[in-house]
Amino acid sequence: MNPQLLFWIPAALRLSLVLIASGLTWYFFGPVIGLAVAIVCLLALIVIQLNYLYQLSGWLEHPDSEKLPDGWGAWTDIFSRLYRMRRDDERNRSELTEWLARFRQAMSLLPDGVVIMDDVLFLEWCNPAAERHLGLNNGRDKGMRVTNLIRSPDFIDYIILGHYEQPLTLSLKDRKLIVQIIPFENRRQILVTHDATESERIEMMRRDFIANASHELRTPLTVINGFLEIAQAQPDLDQAIRMSHLKLMIEQGQRMQNLVEDMLTLTRLESIDYPLRPEHVNIHNLLEQIRQEAEALSGGRHEISLTIDGPDIEGSADELRSAFSNLVSNAVRYTPIHGRIDIKWQNTAAGPQFSVKDTGIGMRPEHLVRLTERFYRVDKSRSRETQGTGLGLAIVKHVLLRHGAVLAIESQPDVGSTFSVQFKTENLPA
Ligand code: ADP
Repeated sequence: MNPQLLFWIPAALRLSLVLIASGLTWYFFGPVIGLAVAIVCLLALIVIQLNYLYQLSGWLEHPDSEKLPDGWGAWTDIFSRLYRMRRDDERNRSELTEWLARFRQAMSLLPDGVVIMDDVLFLEWCNPAAERHLGLNNGRDKGMRVTNLIRSPDFIDYIILGHYEQPLTLSLKDRKLIVQIIPFENRRQILVTHDATESERIEMMRRDFIANASHELRTPLTVINGFLEIAQAQPDLDQAIRMSHLKLMIEQGQRMQNLVEDMLTLTRLESIDYPLRPEHVNIHNLLEQIRQEAEALSGGRHEISLTIDGPDIEGSADELRSAFSNLVSNAVRYTPIHGRIDIKWQNTAAGPQFSVKDTGIGMRPEHLVRLTERFYRVDKSRSRETQGTGLGLAIVKHVLLRHGAVLAIESQPDVGSTFSVQFKTENLPA
């Protein structure tokens, strides 16, 4: 029914009852009693209404849907409407609180930083990633000006210039951050931060790798081109000189081939599309083959021993051959004539262990941590003289990583070096 009618009909009924009651008493008992009855009835109605108003104002003071008073007449409708409004309000409020909690949780899991600021850059809220990136503290720094908290001249300039459509690359506390301010609503701005330290590092490694690889390839190419130009300019060059040039060109060609092969091996080892397929590795056959290669490389200039006192393992035979052979050939290449090279395979409590000990030129301790970096060499000329690519130990590192094994290096200048590879018991065949 129409709410207006719902209000007016009971009110009109109540007033009609008062009129009828006072009219009847007037008629039977005279005007004084009739008027008195009318006044008493009207007063009673006013007191009832005042009582409801009193209850309503008390309820508005402490609104609690459970304690809403029961009504009478139009008050029933007023109270039930208030009850419905109160219930909807409570539901909206709990939905909003739930939504806010979910929003905060999502924000706290976000790898990117989010800072909400007002139009004059006072901090209102920030997520944990922003706290980490910018050194902020949501509780402590609330209400403080962001430019007082992020004290970087580049950031201040970015704010002053106000070209917010462009992100800013910021170096802050050993981190490379990409920062951007996005205005929203009328009086708020969001500061978004993305940690680009890792991608920047990878990009730098990629640039270094390309620069190093080009540099490594340029030297042999220059040598080959030089000899080709001589051959073209002097067709009747002495046969012996021509032969020596050809020999040098073949050597440089071999060097480029080694380099390209090592680069391809490294790329393959790093590729996730190339998972390790473990197989039974016959250690005796593998190390015997490596020893023979070492003898050939040494050409009788070193004393080489091989001791095998441990079990076979599971792994990639090709990759392990490449890693062990790199370590043994390094021992031969960096050990002067008449030196000793001991190759050992033994069982330890932690698992099988491979080691190569030489009495070679050794290295100072500061070089050891960097040895497995690509193209890192202690002595560049010696590495090149012996056909080194500078990628051997990087390959070793990747092969061992794929096998869960660990490389340890001990070395002393002019005394020698020991490279040990510790496998785990998990590498043993099941
Ligand atoms: P390279 O092809 O130059 O030998 P590696 O990655 O195999 O490249 O080795 C990196 C560097 O580590 C070498 O250039 C050399 O300076 C040093 N090195 C490796 N093995 C030995 C060793 N047994 N004795 C002394 N120095 C070594």
